[in-house]
Amino acid sequence: MTRRAIELLLLVALGAVWGWTKESPAITFAGGLVGALAWSFLDGMRARRVLRWLNKGEATRAPNLGGTWGELVERCRKVIKKLEKKAQGSDARLEDFLAAIQASPNGVVLLDASGRIEWSNLTAANHLGFDPQGDLGQYVRNMVRSPAFTAYMAGGDFNHEIQIDGPGPRPSQPTKISLQIHPYGKKRKLMISRDVTAVQLAETMRRDFVANVSHEIRTPLTVLSGFVETMQSIPLEDADRSRYLDLMSQQAHRMQTLVSDLLTLSRLEGSPSPGAGEWIDSDELLQHVISEARGLTQAIAAVPHEIEPLEGPGLWVSGARTELLSAMSNLMSNAVRYTPGGGEIRAGWRVRTDGWAEFFVSDTGPGIAAEHLPRLTERFYRVDRSRSRETGGTGLGLAIVKHVAQRHGGRIDVQSALGEGSTFSIALPPSRVRERVSG
Ligand code: ADP
Repeated sequence: MTRRAIELLLLVALGAVWGWTKESPAITFAGGLVGALAWSFLDGMRARRVLRWLNKGEATRAPNLGGTWGELVERCRKVIKKLEKKAQGSDARLEDFLAAIQASPNGVVLLDASGRIEWSNLTAANHLGFDPQGDLGQYVRNMVRSPAFTAYMAGGDFNHEIQIDGPGPRPSQPTKISLQIHPYGKKRKLMISRDVTAVQLAETMRRDFVANVSHEIRTPLTVLSGFVETMQSIPLEDADRSRYLDLMSQQAHRMQTLVSDLLTLSRLEGSPSPGAGEWIDSDELLQHVISEARGLTQAIAAVPHEIEPLEGPGLWVSGARTELLSAMSNLMSNAVRYTPGGGEIRAGWRVRTDGWAEFFVSDTGPGIAAEHLPRLTERFYRVDRSRSRETGGTGLGLAIVKHVAQRHGGRIDVQSALGEGSTFSIALPPSRVRERVSG
């Protein structure tokens, strides 16, 4: 017999015995009834405790009851504990999942059936300029204010992505965003955003580069084909013929130089940085580019420049000899080409107090206005376009110098002001420099 039944019988018997002492069968019956009522009240109280505990739904703080109620409480406690454990597992998985989406470099936004933001990661909030907590429940069309996006949402064709401008104005925010919607579940949508600023920039640079190269090649080609046509259609005197051939040779040479500079640049970009294996005598490099520059000034200047090396510390520098020579002679040839004939050009090596070594070239040329300085190493950027062309410049020289410097862990520096000449230098880090011990 269960404990509850014993309790019931006991209380009924107690009531009946009390009634029996009054020597009345009716009171005896009533006593038994009161006993039964008292038991059901007590039992009801226990049921209330159990129900109250179940309402809270926590496995802990279970009421301490014996008998059937106690057993029921214990069984419920076990079931609740199991459910709690399962829920904890699901919560942890959800946390992991959300943390993974937070870590994604792409923005992720979940939209409900009516296009309201249900959840978004921080990346998406940064891409689209909304508050990941405060803007939950907002219509995404109100948050992303771009006509292209409005049309995309209204069109309902989500097989392609669209590109919109970033929200600005913070520098950490991208300027170009790609967005694509992926429908899922019951009319719900997953929106992925990607920062395509760099891709766009690279694409613009590629397009500009192709346009520049085409332009640079088209000009000499037009001149060349013009001369060819003239020579084919008109009989020419020997003198004219020879003059035309000279001009044609100049244009062909210009194209050759351009192609050669382009190849140099693409080789520099496509190959690994030179190791520190070869140690080269800095004076030897200097002498080489000085004599090259002296040859150049004899060839192109009406009054040759005065080109002198400056004595410096004897150094060993490590890197790729041909690359270093090409960078140094680019600086020397610029000094010769942009400095009016008779001007002074000085070049040498020096070691700075921080241990970096510099190859520098100073000239007494026209100098460069401050606004041009940051752009000098861009491909095809020229300050003096006509002087560059006249002297066979390709607009790629300083881009090559910058690449070579960077591949050696160094950089190119320019100090110049209009009317005050220029000093260009290639700085190499201490790891690529050793003082030469004399003797
Ligand atoms: P380019 O083949 O036209 O010389 P570079 O990349 O070598 O191209 O140089 C870019 C531009 O910088 C040149 O067109 C010229 O206007 C300017 N520049 C370079 N070196 C000097 C210099 N020593 N003095 C004045 N201007 C210079």
